[in-house]
Amino acid sequence: MNNDPEELFRVLLSKTASYVGEEGVLLIERAYKFAKDAHTGQMRMSAEGYISHPLNVTLILSDLHLDAETYAAALLHDVVEDTGAPIEEVRKEFGENVAFLVNGVTKLKEIKRVSSEETKLENLRKMLLAMAQDIRVVLIKLADRLHNMRTLSYLPPERQKEIARETMDIYVPLAHRLGIYTMKWELEDLSFRYLEPEKYYELSRKVTRKRGEREKYVEGLIEELKALMDANGIKAEVSGRPKNLYGIYRKMIRDGKEFEEIYDIIALRIIVDDIPTCYQVLGIVNNHYTFVPGRIKDYIALPKPNMYQSLHTTVITKSGEPFEIQIRTWEMHRHDEVGIAAHWKYKEGKNLDRDYETKINWLRQILDWQKEIRSSKEFVERVKVDLFSEEVLVFTPKGDVIELPQGATPVDFAFRVHTDIGYQCVGARVNGVMVPLSTELKTGDRVEIITSKTSKGPKRDWLKFVKSASARSRIKAFLRKQYEEKKAAEVQLLKEETIEKPVLRKPQVRREPEEFFPVVSGVRGVKISIAKCCEPHPPEEIVGYVTRGRGIKIHSKTCKNLGEIIERGGKILPAIWTNDVSRKLIAFFRITSWDVPGMIYKISEVFARSNVNIENFHASKKVDKKSHGHNLSYIRFVADIDTRTPLNEIVKELEGIQEIVKVRVSKRWIYEDSYPESEGSKNIG
Ligand code: MN
Repeated sequence: MNNDPEELFRVLLSKTASYVGEEGVLLIERAYKFAKDAHTGQMRMSAEGYISHPLNVTLILSDLHLDAETYAAALLHDVVEDTGAPIEEVRKEFGENVAFLVNGVTKLKEIKRVSSEETKLENLRKMLLAMAQDIRVVLIKLADRLHNMRTLSYLPPERQKEIARETMDIYVPLAHRLGIYTMKWELEDLSFRYLEPEKYYELSRKVTRKRGEREKYVEGLIEELKALMDANGIKAEVSGRPKNLYGIYRKMIRDGKEFEEIYDIIALRIIVDDIPTCYQVLGIVNNHYTFVPGRIKDYIALPKPNMYQSLHTTVITKSGEPFEIQIRTWEMHRHDEVGIAAHWKYKEGKNLDRDYETKINWLRQILDWQKEIRSSKEFVERVKVDLFSEEVLVFTPKGDVIELPQGATPVDFAFRVHTDIGYQCVGARVNGVMVPLSTELKTGDRVEIITSKTSKGPKRDWLKFVKSASARSRIKAFLRKQYEEKKAAEVQLLKEETIEKPVLRKPQVRREPEEFFPVVSGVRGVKISIAKCCEPHPPEEIVGYVTRGRGIKIHSKTCKNLGEIIERGGKILPAIWTNDVSRKLIAFFRITSWDVPGMIYKISEVFARSNVNIENFHASKKVDKKSHGHNLSYIRFVADIDTRTPLNEIVKELEGIQEIVKVRVSKRWIYEDSYPESEGSKNIG
């Protein structure tokens, strides 16, 4: 890029003038002049005039479509720090808001060039606080870092590594959390280049070569998808985006794969006008190709915490390769590129829009915790865990999504839902199964907390496994209070003349009646019943006989009919008795409908309204003589239900859909991994 300041400034104005208004242009022009004068005589390590740096930073920001104040502050972001211009002068010249932003950015740099862990944490803490006050400060800081990373080659090698490390540790996760993927990917790849130069260049060579080889293939696929959209009368843009190098590298490490085994170095995208069309496209794509079950991700109904939305599906192409396809609206697409900045409404000035407000609630939480935690180091360390480890997303029984740090337990969940639930928590069910409170939660888990009004409150032991800062600080606060009360009570007791002995009561443990049921190895979702001939009871040894069409019959190992069954070549599976309640109720749906686009969407809508999860969609075309030449489609899927799910109403609603011909549903228990060796059980996804 041409780095002539006047040229850069012209580009900046041409990119922003249309929406910042005349006043905005004047403000930007004044800020540029002020910065240029202040930086006169200063040079960058690249031997360029210093002013090219703030100009480039502002240009990076202009891609996010921000406001004139932000651009002015970005142009001025180094004047206080590097030229000694007093902040009061900035305030006098440019007003309170611009001065606030410049001051914010300056403060974030105050303790720079000290690489101790402590200092980094302190920087991070400041960044978070600034972010909670005005997100624009952090956006400027991110752009500042991005330009510094782009020009990192001019610094001595040891500084390069140091800065790259810091970028990877702090700025990359920050950009990720704010959903600004374009910045995230570039920061990530630039850091990667300086941190692991050999790996970076090797991978970069391979990717370039492979991309060349695959270009034709991907182009063919794009054409195929375009034709598919046309044939269905859908207005869509189909494109391919090369994935970033570090993303590929991370995948290789995570999945233990060689580069040659990574197929999706290019992500395919279908962009359409509205949300219903997204689901329609999903249905069309999944009907046209074989799709990989369990890889359909609905980030539209369930956006990622950073507000990312899209439908993802992985299909197997004609050549047998899996390919990920992302389906989204233009609005979602813009959000993917600029993240939280998409929620920055220029016209509203300082008023952030509501969606944005609610979504950055975690920031407010951080501020709350800070009040409760005394030492700044502990605060920052804890926050770092919460913010920067990959999060897990779990569900409340009502289907609300709760975001927790990796390794979080039901106790973290309880405190995140409500402090009182944390205090009264006595047990937890995950996916319907009672689990220890120290169990690590996984994304997708449905968590139910069992509370008791008579609970004595959090236990000290919990501190050993809780992961989130909020849970930790609340448990500590509780224990501290308890300790203080106990001490006060003891003092009180000493004062009293008579000391009443506390009445010791045996704790009453309520136990579920032990109900044993048979489990067959490697079998899920099939009806299991006790054979009438031998009617085995626990602890009798048993086996399962796979009947035709009547599920599995459980026979005693000593049943006289068994010999005959085996002789006939009947299929016998190992079985055991268990009282493990790790089973869940599912409903197995088989729907016959007219083969029209959007059926999967219509069906999933019904379930979404009742907050019922559905998965493992299979759709196949069915030619039926009775349908007089019309195509029918046969759709199968599984819904997670429990005994309270209004199944009849759901079926009625489905039957109410015009194109649906027939709905069949059967309820089944699924026993999850309760059989010791679940060999033979299918590994999906
Ligand atoms: Mn700077």
